[in-house]
Amino acid sequence: MPSEASLRCQVLVVGAGPSGGDLARRLALQGLDVVLVDRLADLSRSAFSSAALPIASMEAFGLPAEVVGSRWRQWQLIGPGTATRSWASPQPLGVVLDFAALRRWQADQSLRWGARVLLGLHACSSHQESERMVTLLRRSDGSTLRVTSDWTVDASGQARALLGDPPPAERPRDGLVRAAGLEWLLRVSPACWERWADRLSFCLGSDWVPQGYGWIFPMAPGVLKLGVCRLVDPQRQQPPLGGLITEVGRRLLDSDWDGDAFAVLDRHGGLVRSTIRRREPHQRGRLVGLGDAVSTANLLGGEGIRHALTSSAVLAPLLQQGVLRDYAPQLRRALGWRWSLSGRLARRTWLNLHGPRADGRLDQVLRGLETCRAEDLSALLFGYRFERYGLRAMPYLLGWS
Ligand SMILES: Cc1cc2nc3c(=O)[nH]c(=O)nc-3n(C[C@H](O)[C@H](O)[C@H](O)COP(=O)(O)OP(=O)(O)OC[C@H]3O[C@@H](n4cnc5c(N)ncnc54)[C@H](O)[C@@H]3O)c2cc1C
Repeated sequence: MPSEASLRCQVLVVGAGPSGGDLARRLALQGLDVVLVDRLADLSRSAFSSAALPIASMEAFGLPAEVVGSRWRQWQLIGPGTATRSWASPQPLGVVLDFAALRRWQADQSLRWGARVLLGLHACSSHQESERMVTLLRRSDGSTLRVTSDWTVDASGQARALLGDPPPAERPRDGLVRAAGLEWLLRVSPACWERWADRLSFCLGSDWVPQGYGWIFPMAPGVLKLGVCRLVDPQRQQPPLGGLITEVGRRLLDSDWDGDAFAVLDRHGGLVRSTIRRREPHQRGRLVGLGDAVSTANLLGGEGIRHALTSSAVLAPLLQQGVLRDYAPQLRRALGWRWSLSGRLARRTWLNLHGPRADGRLDQVLRGLETCRAEDLSALLFGYRFERYGLRAMPYLLGWS
C-alpha cells in the first residue's frame, strides 16, 4: 500500500522555477513557515530556459555571480537572408544565466532561511476547506503527501497545474498564445566559441525560422546554447522544431558543426503560454497564481524570468499581510503598459513572419535600427521602449505599412 503523509505550513509554493523559488526565499527570509515543492527530483534537470537577462536585473533581483553562465556586450542579428548586423558596447549589457544553477541557488537560499524544500513531488489537486487550502502531492512511487496551508501558490509555470487554464476568453483576442522552443547545449572548439562569445545572436526571417526566430548564446567557455522558438499557429502546418534547430545550427556554425570538438551535451525545451491582456483570474480563494501561471512571460522575445521575479516581488509583501485584493492590479502596474504593447506586437510580428513580404518589412525595420547604439537596442528589446527607438519600426511591426 503506498503511504500517506501530511504536513501543515503557512504557505505552500508549488513549483521551484524562478517565480516560486524567489517567493519561497523572500517569505522564508521574513520568517514565514514555507514549503517549496517541485515535481523534479533534481533541479539541475530540464533546464529549459536560455535565460538571457539585461545586466540591471542582476542587481534589481539580488542575483549572485554563481548563477551566471557568461556575460555579453553585443547584439548580433542575422537575417532575413544572409544580412548580418551587430551593435557592440564597451560595457557588459547582460548575462546568460545558468538556469539550473539559478533554480538550485533559490532553493538553497529558501532552505537556509528556514523553508522546507521537497523535490520529486507532483501536485495533483487542491481545494479549500474553510480558511485553509488542502493540496495533494504524489511521488513517483505512488506515495502521497497532503499539505494543509493558509495559502497555496501555483508557481508551476505554463502548466498551471492547480489554477488551470484561464476560462475561455470573452474576447477571442485574449486567448492563450503559445510559443514552443527547443534548445541544445553544444560543446564547440575554442575558435568557434570565440566567434560567438560576448554576444547575443539571433537569426530572424522566414528562411531561418518561419513564425519565430533562432539564437546562439554563450553559456560558458567552450559551450554555446543553440535554440529555436516560434509561435504555435493552428492555421498553418509548421515544420518540426527538431529539423529546424538542426538546419539553423548547420547554417550558423558551418564547418564547426561536424568538427572534432563538437558535441551536443543536452537537449531541452518547452512551451511558453501567455494571454496578451492578462485579464485572467490571479486567485481562486486561497489559491494564488504566480509567474508564467498568470501569463507574466512576454512572447516578443520569449522572455519570462525577469517578469516571473517581478511577480514574486509584488506578491511576497501582500502574502505577508494576508491581503491579496490588490495583487492583480499591482502586478499589472509593475509589468507596465510597455509589457502589454510588446505582447500584442509579438503575436502580430511572429505569426505574420512566414514569407518574403514579411521578411522585407522586417529587413526595413532592422535597417532603421542600424544607427542605434547597442544600449538603445537593449532599451528597445528589454525595456520595450518602442516610442524612443522604434517609432519608425512600429507601423511595420503592426502591419500598418
Ligand atoms: C526554450 C525556452 C527558452 C527561454 N528563454 C528565455 C530567456 O532567454 N530569457 C527569459 O527571461 N525567459 C526565457 N524563457 C521563459 C522562462 O524560462 C519562463 O518564463 C520562466 O522560467 C517562468 O518562471 P516560472 O517560475 O513562472 O515557471 P517555470 O520556470 O516554468 O517553473 C515551474 C516549475 O514548476 C514545476 N511544476 C510544474 N508542474 C508541477 C506540478 N504539477 N507539481 C509540482 N511541480 C510542478 C516545474 O518542474 C518547474 O520547475 C524561455 C523558455 C523556453 C521554453
